[in-house]
Amino acid sequence: MGLGAARKTALVTGAAGFLGSHLVDRLLDEGYEVVGIDNLMTGDLGNLERAGRDPHFHFQMGDVREPIHVYAELVFNFACPASPIHYQSDPYATLTTSVMGALRLVEMARGRRCTIVHASTSEVYGDPTVHPQPESYWGNVNPIGDRSCYDEGKRCAETLLNDARRAWGVDVRIARIFNTYGPRMAFDDGRVVSNFIVQALRGSPLTLFGDGRQTRSFCFVKDLLEGILSLARPEPIEGPVNLGNPEEFTIRDLAEEVLRIVGSDLEIIHQPLPADDPRQRKPDISRARELLGFSPQIGLREGLRATVADFQARLAERASKGR
Ligand code: NAD
Ligand code: UDP
Repeated sequence: MGLGAARKTALVTGAAGFLGSHLVDRLLDEGYEVVGIDNLMTGDLGNLERAGRDPHFHFQMGDVREPIHVYAELVFNFACPASPIHYQSDPYATLTTSVMGALRLVEMARGRRCTIVHASTSEVYGDPTVHPQPESYWGNVNPIGDRSCYDEGKRCAETLLNDARRAWGVDVRIARIFNTYGPRMAFDDGRVVSNFIVQALRGSPLTLFGDGRQTRSFCFVKDLLEGILSLARPEPIEGPVNLGNPEEFTIRDLAEEVLRIVGSDLEIIHQPLPADDPRQRKPDISRARELLGFSPQIGLREGLRATVADFQARLAERASKGR
């Protein structure tokens, strides 16, 4: 933003989480006045340490299911637990956070000049029967399974936001985010990248669920943020946009890569595959490429190295504080 221009206000819900906190830092760097809302269900105020020192950042402890009393020109709706163990620990909170959070933001934005960028997910495709997954695929989701609170909550939020655009012209942008990882993931996050790194650094066996042949495509956080910020461009974008890195790996490949980077020959132990665990996942990012020039730059090895270094530094800091 140029000198002398009035600062625009951006609201980030889920600001204390992994992605939300990186987004807050990035928006402050871009010259926004940033308001962050979070109820700390899975977030950590430690993630906002840098932002907290910036006079242009304002934190509100709050729940997106309650009316939102902040007006912002740009809203990034990232509030929602994202790791299966966390979103399944309180399915009611997960589902209501997705649906009511979207509703509260529509109430705030309706009739005003406001763009809502919503964090949807590859989970809207469920256990996909089409591979890779384009936005035109409607998905294969169990509506009453262990993952449904998350999958159906996110699907319903997309419906609600699309209807708000059709009915009242609310400017919504929907990012279908595929597995994203990087520094600041919580030690107890429970997702595969952080689990494997924490296990490898602590010298415990890596827990591989199922036979390890299921696939995911892992995107480094920095690449994802490029896509999210491009999606917030002034010109409207209708319909969802996949954001992720299309390089596909088996979960066994990931375990072996983490062990190589950490320099360890720890055992890999098998544990049961969770219910409805998708067998394969890879984004078709043609739409993001064409519309936004989105092109992830950071490969798995480079991204994992940076993530391992961050976990090592945080573990060392904990040890020095006797925790
Ligand atoms: P995260 O768990 O680290 O962050 C979620 C944040 O939302 C936390 O700070 C949590 O405390 C907050 N929150 C939860 N419920 C809330 C509520 N009712 N009111 C206010 N705050 C609440 O997860 P993340 O990986 O940073 O994911 C952020 C968003 O991106 C989520 O909406 C998630 O569904 C989406 N997403 C993430 C990924 C990924 O791979 N990281 C993939 C797809 C979608
Ligand atoms: N997984 C695993 N070990 C773990 C955690 C996860 O093998 O300690 C598997 C999980 O079963 C899934 C994949 O890794 O097949 C990705 O899981 P994650 O929870 O990271 O994300 P999601 O399933 O939502 O893509």
